[in-house]
Amino acid sequence: MDCVFCKIIEGSLPSRQVFENERVIAIHDIKPEAPVHILVIPKKHIPTMNDVTDGDNELIAEMFSVARAIAKEQGIAEAGYRLVFNCNKEGGQIVYHLHLHILGGKQLTTHIA
Ligand code: C5P
Repeated sequence: MDCVFCKIIEGSLPSRQVFENERVIAIHDIKPEAPVHILVIPKKHIPTMNDVTDGDNELIAEMFSVARAIAKEQGIAEAGYRLVFNCNKEGGQIVYHLHLHILGGKQLTTHIA
């Protein structure tokens, strides 16, 4: 298994975890790009957004639900935050295991790209 997030999920690589249930984990990003930068990661190995199927709809919805709860816990919900999925090379994806970035704690640019 050559996937860094699968290794984090199984516990063979360390991470600063903020949430876990049977389907999803959330960890602090090791190279934060904002005061709050947390990744919501499904335990199921889905390489990219292109590989998501209709059968994953509940899982994707749960990732957003977890992100909302974390934004509240981190105290960034009211001020605002950004949720991002990068897909493939031109989308800026580096780790090919689906993940949702939660970014907040500062004024983010109005430019998305
Ligand atoms: O969306 P993308 O694939 O570019 O983002 C991957 C993210 O995973 C990066 O922000 C990187 O810092 C983070 N990462 C991490 N822990 C690792 C490897 C990568 O938080 N062990």
